[in-house]
Amino acid sequence: MQVFNEINALKQALSSERKEGKKIGFVPTMGFFHEGHLSLMKQAKNETNCVVVSIFVNPTQFGPGEDFESYPRDLNRDLKLCEDVGVNYVFTPDVSEMYPTGYSTYVECEGGITKTLCGASRPGHFKGVTSVVNKLFNIVEPDLAFFGQKDAQQVAVLEKMVRDLNMNLKIIPCPIKRENDGLAMSSRNVYLNEDERKDALVLSQSLKIASELIANGETDAKSIIDQMKSHIMTASSAVIDYVQIVDNSDLSDIDTVKGEVLFAVAVRIGRTRLIDNMRMTI
Ligand code: AMP
Repeated sequence: MQVFNEINALKQALSSERKEGKKIGFVPTMGFFHEGHLSLMKQAKNETNCVVVSIFVNPTQFGPGEDFESYPRDLNRDLKLCEDVGVNYVFTPDVSEMYPTGYSTYVECEGGITKTLCGASRPGHFKGVTSVVNKLFNIVEPDLAFFGQKDAQQVAVLEKMVRDLNMNLKIIPCPIKRENDGLAMSSRNVYLNEDERKDALVLSQSLKIASELIANGETDAKSIIDQMKSHIMTASSAVIDYVQIVDNSDLSDIDTVKGEVLFAVAVRIGRTRLIDNMRMTI
C-alpha cells in the first residue's frame, strides 16, 4: 500500500496503473474508520483491481459552528485498517494541497435536490461536497466510485453531478452498516455519552416503525411522519432536525407513500447531529 499527500505524485502513480489496464475503484472518506467505511473498501476491492481511498476532512462542506475542528481523526489507525483490507493507495492531502492560496472555483448543483433534507439545515454543505468530490475525481480518475447509502442525499446529488457533467465514471451506492442494536455506524457516534448512545436508537427505531406501518397498509405520509416524530421525542436528548418521506428519484416530498421512496431522519442527540434513512419500494 502506498500513501500520498501530494496530488501530482498520486496522479503519476495512478497513470502507470491505468496504463497497465487496471480498473480503478475509489472510496472518498473523511477518515476515523468504522465497518461502514471498510465495507465500501471491500466492495471496491471486489469490483476493481486498484483501490484508492482518500482521507480528507474537507473544510468547505462544514458550516460555521459545525464540527470541522473537533471532527475525530486517527490517521495511523486508519492506515492500518486500509492495509488490512488490501487497499492499494491512500491519499491524505493537507488542506493547503487541496485549497492552495487563491483557490476560488466551486461546483454547485442548483437543483431542488440540494435544497431539501440536509441541504435545508446545512446551507452550503452540498456545494462543499460536490466541489471536493469533483476535485478528487479529477485527481484519481476512477472507473467506479463507492459511496454509502447512509448519506442517501449525497449519493443522489453526486449521481446527478456525474450525469449533468457527463463524467466518465459510475457511482456505486453501498448498503448502510449498522451496530447490532440498529444504530447506523458513523464517525460521529464517538461524540455520544452513555445516555445519548441509548437515545440515539430512536433514529433507526423510527424507521422500523415506518416500515411496520407500511406493512399494515398505511400510506399517508403525514400520519407516518407524526408517529415517527412521536417516537423520536421519547428520547430526552433528542431534538428533531427533520423527518421526511420523499420520492427517491428527486427527493421531493410526497403525500402518499407509493413507488420508490426514501424515509430520512436527522436528529440532534445532545450536541451530536445524526442521520439515518431507509429506502423502500411500495
Ligand atoms: P465519511 O467519512 O463520513 O465522509 O464517509 C465516507 C463514506 O462512507 C461515505 O460514502 C459514507 O456514506 C460512507 N459511510 C459512512 N457511514 C456508513 C455506514 N454506516 N454504512 C455504509 N457506508 C457508510
